[in-house]
Amino acid sequence: MTEFENLTDFSGGRDATPPPYDVIVVGAGAAGILAAGRAAELGSKVLLLEKMDRAGRKLLLTGKGRCNITNTAPLDEFLKHIHPNSRFIRHAFSRFFSDDITRLLNENGCLTVIERGGRVFPSSNRSSDVLNSLMQWMTRHPVEIRYRHKVTDLVLQDGRVAGLKIHSTRGHEMIRAKSVILCTGGMAYPATGSNGDGYSLAASAGHTIETPRPALVPLETAGDMAPRLQGLNLKNVRAAVWIHGKKTQDAFGEMLFTEFGISGPIILTLSRLMVDALRNNARVELSIDLKPALDETKLDLRLVRDLTAN
Ligand SMILES: Cc1cc2nc3c(=O)[nH]c(=O)nc-3n(C[C@H](O)[C@H](O)[C@H](O)COP(=O)(O)OP(=O)(O)OC[C@H]3O[C@@H](n4cnc5c(N)ncnc54)[C@H](O)[C@@H]3O)c2cc1C
Repeated sequence: MTEFENLTDFSGGRDATPPPYDVIVVGAGAAGILAAGRAAELGSKVLLLEKMDRAGRKLLLTGKGRCNITNTAPLDEFLKHIHPNSRFIRHAFSRFFSDDITRLLNENGCLTVIERGGRVFPSSNRSSDVLNSLMQWMTRHPVEIRYRHKVTDLVLQDGRVAGLKIHSTRGHEMIRAKSVILCTGGMAYPATGSNGDGYSLAASAGHTIETPRPALVPLETAGDMAPRLQGLNLKNVRAAVWIHGKKTQDAFGEMLFTEFGISGPIILTLSRLMVDALRNNARVELSIDLKPALDETKLDLRLVRDLTAN
């Protein structure tokens, strides 16, 4: 007997009474708060389940505690920076884009500023203001929220999601709903609550899961160059990724050497490509052009000039 078989409800048979909720949203991060608020705004009876003791723990960490909310770049430019397969996201962004989230926050007490590169931050520089503003907006609509409720399984009936099973301090429970929205986040920083539960929940409903792998991460390097150069910060350099000896992608900007390897904005940008190549056992190398604005002749003259002067 499984731990759920002695629960009432519909694990095997049918229940004629209508489900108590139209929508159950799993996960109270930025996505779950917006999904729950919007569903309630449209008139649905909504339950938001969060396994941690409060909402938005990861959001509080973002942008080094400042939360880089969005960017003012136009849609096509924006998509280029998100994912190689951005067609999937285009549709969603055509309904709700950067100016919509900025307006929503502004109208709910979080003023914003635009910084270098079109990056949008809260004027207060506090990610907690972003979270408070989202919560304020959501709770204007009738959303029931339960913290410390971990969703353990989806309940499927006739190939459709019909509810879910949860675990809380009260033990195990089943809750029925017409639909379930999974907003369980990725699997980085599991201490914030997003530990990858959502992947197995989605897979149980028949979704194909693309194996999660790190992106926007610092990288370890072979040899002892990194520890020797540890702390060195390079500005206005161009780093190029070579895979099996072929130059594949480059990026211009800032990078630094760490105890174990390399980090900084351009390395984080290039890391998705390098991680995928390394996972495929490819030979991955990085070259750094320290003076990308100078051609060889100008560089030569500059070196001669500097050496003569010093
Ligand atoms: C260090 C760091 C800095 C970042 N900086 C930025 C930034 O400046 N700007 C930016 O746009 N993005 C940033 N990000 C990315 C951003 O944090 C995520 O994209 C965002 O938090 C995703 O929101 P989400 O609602 O999808 O998921 P999450 O915020 O991860 O929320 C998922 C929620 O689901 C809950 N949950 C998971 N499983 C269950 C379950 N089984 N039952 C119940 N609840 C469950 C979790 O507890 C969690 O509260 C940063 C990420 C990190 C790690």
